[in-house]
Amino acid sequence: MSGPGPKVAVLGYPNVGKSSLVNRLSESRVAVVHEAPGITRDRHEIPCEWGGRRFTLIDTGGMDMFDEDPMAGSIREQARAAMADASVGLLVVDGQAGVRPGDEELADLLRRWDKPVVVVVNKIDSVKNVPSASEFYALGLGDPMAVSATQGLGTGDLLDAVVERLPEGDFEPEDDETIRLALIGRPNVGKSSLVNKFLRSERVIVSDVAGTTRDAIDLPMEVDGRRVIVVDTAGMRRQAKVTESVEYYTTLRSQRAVERSDVALVICDAHDGVTAQDLRIAELAMKAGCATALVLNKWDIAPMEESDLDHERAKVNNKIRLRPKVLTTSAVSGRNVDRLLKEAIILGDRVKTRIPTPQLNRFISEVVQERQPPAKQGSRLRLLYMAQFETRPPRFAIQVNSRNRVTRDYAYFVENRLRARFGMDGIPLIIDFKERKQRDER
Ligand code: GDP
Ligand code: GDP
Repeated sequence: MSGPGPKVAVLGYPNVGKSSLVNRLSESRVAVVHEAPGITRDRHEIPCEWGGRRFTLIDTGGMDMFDEDPMAGSIREQARAAMADASVGLLVVDGQAGVRPGDEELADLLRRWDKPVVVVVNKIDSVKNVPSASEFYALGLGDPMAVSATQGLGTGDLLDAVVERLPEGDFEPEDDETIRLALIGRPNVGKSSLVNKFLRSERVIVSDVAGTTRDAIDLPMEVDGRRVIVVDTAGMRRQAKVTESVEYYTTLRSQRAVERSDVALVICDAHDGVTAQDLRIAELAMKAGCATALVLNKWDIAPMEESDLDHERAKVNNKIRLRPKVLTTSAVSGRNVDRLLKEAIILGDRVKTRIPTPQLNRFISEVVQERQPPAKQGSRLRLLYMAQFETRPPRFAIQVNSRNRVTRDYAYFVENRLRARFGMDGIPLIIDFKERKQRDER
């Protein structure tokens, strides 16, 4: 069986940590494989997904084990085979061992290849050792990237680098309208009950779109004509059975789910109110770029009134600057279950939204009128121009006359106004202040 999307060959001498790295990079996907009985998988090819792009890692480390004759097919030959149908190469080297002749031999081969290559310096287990990776510039394949497969250091940056180098035009077939939704939270808060309730809602059709690969753990639905995929439903079922280190397991599960999602609903037990752990889970989701809301489930049996709800909301706004919404629902009575789905779709649209530049520039002129920007030594900060250049999460750039006049206070003020103005509660967003060298400055 062949994995989806373009192929990324993971090359390197034995014991540099190729297999460990592949496991780390494909974390969520490996879990998928374990939980989907009946799906046989070629062990050399591991499907991966990052930033909405799918690709397949070819683990040449794993290949060693399949060779009947250990001497057959030199490492060079294996590398050649993997390179033949890969679009990107990762040359993995051992950062603790330094440059070795084997690395040079493979680098030689790769320099003559016409595809992009990233030198991955593995076993850099602590940040203080990062500088030692620069030794691998000597391989003549550009900037080496320091990672630790066992510690998980630098792997996000590496995945970014891989995705950047993938060939254009291989985007996954899923249209951008699809919203990937994660229901996360502590065990027994009612996540699976809510999903079951979704399925019984009149608004929901469980869709089975022909031609799309369907993970056993992801549930595609259609809500009022919109495609919504609830991710990692298997995690919900499994979670309750784990007794040791529930918090650790919950965090791990949530992390994997949010990495693959646009929207995260953090389900809480209304009985307990929003707990510290619920808040941590919400933060994790927003860090991963998910539009996030908290949901107090079991509202039917909660000893709470509207005034208590105000208290919970104030608590959340106090703790989380992104001001996620706090909704209420009951998986048993069905209260607000449809509304929850509607909110999820709104959140999904917001996190992928692109606000037109004229609106943003109108926005900054309003902001400046509302509160004068700070001044330093008689010269005042000026906001010159604003544009959005990325979505999911939305990322904006504001050109200013002088960067060091941007105070933290004012930056937060702008961010909060932006969130309020464009209804982006619970949406992680980034604002870069960029200095413009300009002639017309007085
Ligand atoms: P491969 O032969 O290149 O696939 O290498 P493996 O993934 O089997 O790893 C070889 C050895 O290096 C194993 O003992 C790993 O535990 C160890 N290893 C892999 N990655 C790291 C890392 O980031 N740091 C450290 N300290 N050891 C690692
Ligand atoms: P999960 O571990 O988060 O998936 O939680 P479950 O969906 O398995 O629910 C845990 C328990 O809470 C089950 O006994 C459910 O019947 C119960 N439960 C879930 N949602 C509600 C609700 O809205 N109201 C009430 N009263 N019970 C609920």
